[in-house]
Amino acid sequence: MNKPNDPVDLKDLSDLDPPRPIKERLLREFSERMLEHLDTLSDQPAWSNEDGSEAAGWLDGPVPEQGRPLDEILDLLFDRVIPCSLNTAGPGYLAYVPGGGLYSAALAEFVAAVVNRYAGVWVAAPGAVELETRALRWLVELMGLPESALGVFTTGGSMSNLLAVVAAREKLLGSEISDGVAYFSSEVHHSVIKAARIAGIAEDRRAGRRPFFVSGSAGTVNTGAVDSLRRIADVAEREGLWNHVDGAYGATFRLLPELHATLDGMERCDSLALDPHKGLFFPYGLGTLLVRQPADLTRAFHVSGSYLPQLQEGVTRFDFCEMSPELSRDWRGLRVWLPFMLHGVDAFRRALREKRELAVRAFETLSREEDVEIAAPPELSLFAFRQVFGDADLEETNRRNRKLLEEINRPARIYLTGTTLGGVFYLRICVLHLRTNRERVDEGLEIIRRALEERRV
Ligand SMILES: *Cc1c(COP(=O)(O)O)cnc(C)c1O
Repeated sequence: MNKPNDPVDLKDLSDLDPPRPIKERLLREFSERMLEHLDTLSDQPAWSNEDGSEAAGWLDGPVPEQGRPLDEILDLLFDRVIPCSLNTAGPGYLAYVPGGGLYSAALAEFVAAVVNRYAGVWVAAPGAVELETRALRWLVELMGLPESALGVFTTGGSMSNLLAVVAAREKLLGSEISDGVAYFSSEVHHSVIKAARIAGIAEDRRAGRRPFFVSGSAGTVNTGAVDSLRRIADVAEREGLWNHVDGAYGATFRLLPELHATLDGMERCDSLALDPHKGLFFPYGLGTLLVRQPADLTRAFHVSGSYLPQLQEGVTRFDFCEMSPELSRDWRGLRVWLPFMLHGVDAFRRALREKRELAVRAFETLSREEDVEIAAPPELSLFAFRQVFGDADLEETNRRNRKLLEEINRPARIYLTGTTLGGVFYLRICVLHLRTNRERVDEGLEIIRRALEERRV
C-alpha cells in the first residue's frame, strides 16, 4: 500500500479520528479511485448482466475485528460491487428517469458530512439553516411560486409526495380521515384529469365522502405525459382541494422558457415535488417539497420536544425538523446551494435543454421508421415506442417488443427499460442523464435501428 518515500502508514487504521497525514492519504486514495471511475465511464458497460447473487459471496464474512487493508476494500468496491449494476452514472443510461451524479453535489455532500453541522433547528446552526433556506428560495423562484413559499429537502420524490398528502390531510381533514378522498391523474388518459373524475368529486361529496387532495403530474414516469396543470388548478380552486403537482421528473424543465407553456399552471399548486436527483443531475438522495404556505408543513410536522433548543420569542426562523418527520438528518441544502454557486443556474438550463433536444432528436429519428409506433411525442425528454407487425396479434407483438428491448440492451452501450400501457408493451427512452451526449444518443439510435431491422425479416 505504501509508496516509496511515503512516510504514512495505512496498515493500522484503528484510530477512528486519525491525524491529518492519514486523512490526506485516505482522501487521495479514494479520490484516485473515484476519478479513475469517472474517467472510464464512457467505456464501461451501460449495465452488467452479472448474476447479482454472486455479490453476496464476495461479501461473505463476519464483521472484521480489525480493519482490512485499504487496497482490498477499494478493489472490492470499485472492481466488483460497483460494476455489478446498471451504470446509472454513465452516458448510456436512458432507463426509468435517470439522474446524474453531479460531482460538485457529491463534494457538497462530503463537506456536509465532514463538518457535520446539524441544520434541523435554526439556533443550532443559523448559518447552515439560512443557506439551506436560500437554496429552497432559489428553487421557489425558479419554479415560479410566490416568494412566501418554502418547503423542505427530502430524500426523494416518494417522500415529498407523502409529506404533501399528510400536510393536505392535516389542513383539510383534521383528525377524522377515513372519509377523505384523494384524486390522482391517470397515466393512460394523460393531459387531462378525466371528466369522469371531476364528476366523481361531486359524486363522492353526495356519498358523504370528503374530497381533499388532487395530484397532477408534471411528467409521468411511464410516458413523460404532462397533465393540463392549469385545468387541474381550476378544478382544485373551485372545489377547495389541495392541489399537489408531482414534478419529481419534470418540474425542473421549467428552467427552459420554451417549456413554460407545457408546464403552465404548475405555479398555482399548493405543493410541488421536484427531484434534484433527477432533473438537476444530483446524486441519489435529494428530493424537494415546496409548499405555497410553509405553515401547512409545520402544522403537520410540528414537534415540541422540551429538549430541543427553543426559538427566541418573536423570531420567525424555520426549523426544518418541524417541516418533515425527520429530526436528525444531513445538511441537505448544501448539496443544492454549492452547485448553483459553482456553476450558475444557466449551466443547468443548458444541460436540460441539451437533454430535451436529444430526446426530440431520438423521437424524430425513430418516427421515420415506418413500423415504429410512438405513444406520444416527448413533452419533456421522455417518450415510449414499439415496433408493430402486420402479422402479429397483441400478445405476439408484446413478446417481440420485449425481445427487441433485450436486443437493444445486449451490447450494453445504452440501457432502456419498458413499460406496459393498457396491456401494450412499450420501450421507453428517457434522456436526462448528465453525461448523455449526442454521440451516445446517435450510437444508441443506430443500435435500435439495427435491432428493428433484424425483427423485420
Ligand atoms: C421518480 C418519480 C417519483 C418517485 O421519486 P423518488 O425520488 O424516486 O422517490 C415519483 N413521481 C415521479 C413522476 C417520478 O418521476
